[in-house]
Amino acid sequence: FYLVLVDRRQKMLDYRVHEQQGEPQPPAKLPIETGLFGLVANTGKPILVEDWRRAPERLRARALETDKETGSLIAVPLMHEEGVIGVVSVQHTEANVYSGADLNLLQRLAEHLAAAVADARAFEDLESYRAGLEERVTERTAELERAARDKERLIQALREQGRALERAASEDPLTGVANRRHFSQRLTAEIEVAQAMGQPLTLAIADLDRFKLVNDALGHGVGDEVLRRAAKLMQGLCRTNDLVARIGGEEFALVLPGLAHDDGAAFCERLRRAFEEHEWRRVHPALRVTVSIGVWQWNGIADAEALLVAADAQLYRAKRAGRNRVA
Ligand code: GH3
Ligand code: MG
Ligand code: MG
Repeated sequence: FYLVLVDRRQKMLDYRVHEQQGEPQPPAKLPIETGLFGLVANTGKPILVEDWRRAPERLRARALETDKETGSLIAVPLMHEEGVIGVVSVQHTEANVYSGADLNLLQRLAEHLAAAVADARAFEDLESYRAGLEERVTERTAELERAARDKERLIQALREQGRALERAASEDPLTGVANRRHFSQRLTAEIEVAQAMGQPLTLAIADLDRFKLVNDALGHGVGDEVLRRAAKLMQGLCRTNDLVARIGGEEFALVLPGLAHDDGAAFCERLRRAFEEHEWRRVHPALRVTVSIGVWQWNGIADAEALLVAADAQLYRAKRAGRNRVA
């Protein structure tokens, strides 16, 4: 018994069921024109051979090795929509086992078989279509997810860059406090706030004493470390709304919103003492650092420039009076 499917795409005969003496044989594939089944697949016509030894030559010529023991056989095409989709065949070692009635019977059976095979094929096609679709959806989803992740990373990088640029534009790279540009903007803004709220505003300028000597005697590296520590000392004593800025080499500005002159001066005195008491010896055994600070309260009229000039004049006074003091 044989059930063979015609695989037109691959041009093969696909031996799905093949039994000999009741023993299932392994599935196999042969080229589509091969043997008697190839003939049935090609012509769509059934074959009945009652006695193989007396079969016409055109059939005998197509016999395969396995057909040699055949006595009689029937081979019927499985038809679906005008095409042959398979062949079903029964064979016997003895002659004259099959007749026209058996051919009819097998043809009837073949109609049902063909319908079932066609359904199964349609279902297989649908299944593979569905599987293909699913695969494409999965692929596309992964692609979209990748794109979304890339976009997220790009945005993250741009943000980081933006923040870095912002920092670079407003921050002093050595000490991390505000730079002169940021200071000017902030002082102007604080003057406007003070004006609008009717609140006091004080500006202090702090300049390290004899700092040139530090550099000359101990080196620029020590000088830099002093500047970093000085910035940290000031930042540490300031309130959150105060602004510390490095506005020159060893010159810092402190914007103190809400403080009148005396409170500002008291704050600066604390700062001066903090410098005096700082363990500068940790930077270098020979190091001592003091600071002079000029303090000026905004008079309600001056602009940022004028306020800075006034505070600077106070600083000059502190220096003239002997340094390490607040004026
Ligand atoms: P005074 O008490 O009058 O302020 O004396 P001074 O020596 O501090 O003043 P001066 O303006 O003569 O010298 C400032 C020195 O600050 C000059 C320079 O060597 C040093 N300086 C400026 N910027 C930097 C910096 O970024 N790093 C270091 N290490 N030193 C700096
Ligand atoms: Mg100085
Ligand atoms: Mg100076």
